[in-house]
Amino acid sequence: MPKVWNWQINREMDFPYEESRPKRQFAAVFDTNKCIACQTCTIACKTTWTSGRGQEHMFWNNVETKPYGFYPLGWDVRLMKLLGFHQWEGETYGGETVFESAPQGTQANGYLPEDQDWAHPNIGEDEPCGSVEQGQAFGTPHDVWNFYLPRICNHCTYAACITACPRGAIYKREEDGVVLIDQERCRGYGECMKACPYKKVLPNSVTRTSEKCIGCYPLIEQGYQTRCVTTCIGRIRLNGWISPPDQADPEKPMDYIVHVKKLALPLYPQAGLEPNIYYIPPVHVPGRYLKQMFGPGYKEAVEVYETLEEDQQLLGCLTLFGSTDKWIDRFRVAGGYAYGYSEDGRELVRSPLREPSEIRPFYDEKHQAYRHNTP
Ligand code: SF4
Ligand code: SF4
Repeated sequence: MPKVWNWQINREMDFPYEESRPKRQFAAVFDTNKCIACQTCTIACKTTWTSGRGQEHMFWNNVETKPYGFYPLGWDVRLMKLLGFHQWEGETYGGETVFESAPQGTQANGYLPEDQDWAHPNIGEDEPCGSVEQGQAFGTPHDVWNFYLPRICNHCTYAACITACPRGAIYKREEDGVVLIDQERCRGYGECMKACPYKKVLPNSVTRTSEKCIGCYPLIEQGYQTRCVTTCIGRIRLNGWISPPDQADPEKPMDYIVHVKKLALPLYPQAGLEPNIYYIPPVHVPGRYLKQMFGPGYKEAVEVYETLEEDQQLLGCLTLFGSTDKWIDRFRVAGGYAYGYSEDGRELVRSPLREPSEIRPFYDEKHQAYRHNTP
């Protein structure tokens, strides 16, 4: 089996194909500290792409409450079980990926969810991992916690769904790295569903094919960000192109956040797929959980987030989240503003690092009136 370099686990790994990266790679950063689980992204995606027959149960974008929310049921607990004992040695993953632990005759270690597993998208919503006793005080990290994890297909560099399809119906686009299922070729065997560790391929009960997030490619082609990104109420999301770490360009928002500042991390990097949705980890959650979910970079990421005030460049980059529906190629921070530019250098958006605010006096001389609703 060929060996490929996976920067997220800091080592070479076995993979069924030679290493090959697209010209540009679709990516997004999600800030879990700001997600309020309003599910606007979920509904925006649903009404755009999956309102047809056979798609009733389907959420290409979902938001689950960790630790007890899952869609499908128990997907990551089962993944951890499949991977078995997995150990990080510093930055390097010492266990086996889903490709390296694949049973004989298969390309990836996985399982097929039951129909019932898709039936509870809101299970565990808002449930914390314990109960708060009377008189208990919160410190950081919290003893009792939960957080919201928004999820879409990761448009992985080493996509397990592609390796598993016996019909060769799944492909990764050269121009943007988006992973798509050719609906003409697909026969719904479900091998991709079994192989994807994130369980982001779903069955369509009417067409009898498999379907998944298409990265809103018709929007990307027109220079727009995806629906789940532009509709996000919490402004927690930003799209962009990501480069491999040795080609990182600090003017590109994804490269800057992920590679330069190391603030956002991949989801379960130990699975070995090099997923391209990156998460700013929740700062109130205990380290052991964050390490399991996002890998050993969690500590540095939390430290960077907690000192964000002091880093105007990074703060500026984060203010561009939710500031425009256009695809930002590059950014710059100057004079208290963050600027976003298109690929051909046009200014798309200008966002202040601090929102202007006005404090109204308690006594208004002009109207000779007291304002009782001001502090
Ligand atoms: S997240 Fe799953 S469906 Fe999406 S590209 Fe990766 S393996 Fe394929
Ligand atoms: S729209 Fe944004 S804030 Fe609301 S659930 Fe989705 S990711 Fe979270």
